Amino acid sequence: MSVEPLLELSGVRAGYGAIEVLHSVDLILEPGAVVALLGPNGGGKTTTLRVCSGIHPVSSGEFRLAGRVVNGVSAAEFARLGVCSIPEGRGIFPNLTVRENLWIGTGTGVPLADLEEVAYTRFPVLGERRSQLAGSMSGGEQQMLALSRALGTHPTVLLLDELSMGLAPRIVSRIYDIVGELAAEGVSILVAEQFARAVLPIATSAALMLQGRVVRTGDPAEIEEELSTTYLGG
Ligand code: ATP
Repeated sequence: MSVEPLLELSGVRAGYGAIEVLHSVDLILEPGAVVALLGPNGGGKTTTLRVCSGIHPVSSGEFRLAGRVVNGVSAAEFARLGVCSIPEGRGIFPNLTVRENLWIGTGTGVPLADLEEVAYTRFPVLGERRSQLAGSMSGGEQQMLALSRALGTHPTVLLLDELSMGLAPRIVSRIYDIVGELAAEGVSILVAEQFARAVLPIATSAALMLQGRVVRTGDPAEIEEELSTTYLGG
């Protein structure tokens, strides 16, 4: 019996104003999968994630979530459907405390006490720093805060954009270990990464995105190899 995809883009086009940047994107996230969206700068990874989180409109094609067509559904409704995203740059508020960031970030009505429990249980360091300004923490701790905010809503789908940005390799691998734990707990994950090697240990498949199209999907290590030798000059 085939499993219905959790998230499915078929022939999706999207852009900014009159400029189309996604040219018929096909992408599938199966339940329990970790799909790495890989590709050079400007290929359309961030726009694809924005479409998947409901904050960027689809101009044509079909976007399905758990079998339901969701073209035009609001971002707030996406959150209620269990889709949660961490944008490039983490989306935290540097001038607010850890606790305030947890409170302000979700918009799903989950009580603060529940958000704090999830955050501090998984990341005790955030509990120690609950009254500290988020902007004064290290990049890795800020990424933990961003992950905590997402986890507090108990998502079924997690959309992650460039988690490695600005972090030392050791911290990147720690953050991806945590993402791997979430996947093992059953969260389905679509993760865009330019630093493809970081995501290889946890990816179940990869999609290579070039110039607004997914040109290939398959084994993460093979796609990373193709990306680094053919497109990034490595
Ligand atoms: P990066 O890693 O640099 O974010 P990406 O693969 O995530 O790259 P996108 O950010 O989705 O790619 O960009 C795809 C194309 O859309 C690029 O040509 C980019 O210049 C363009 N683009 C992105 N954001 C906007 C915007 N707000 N207005 C106009 N064009 C945009």
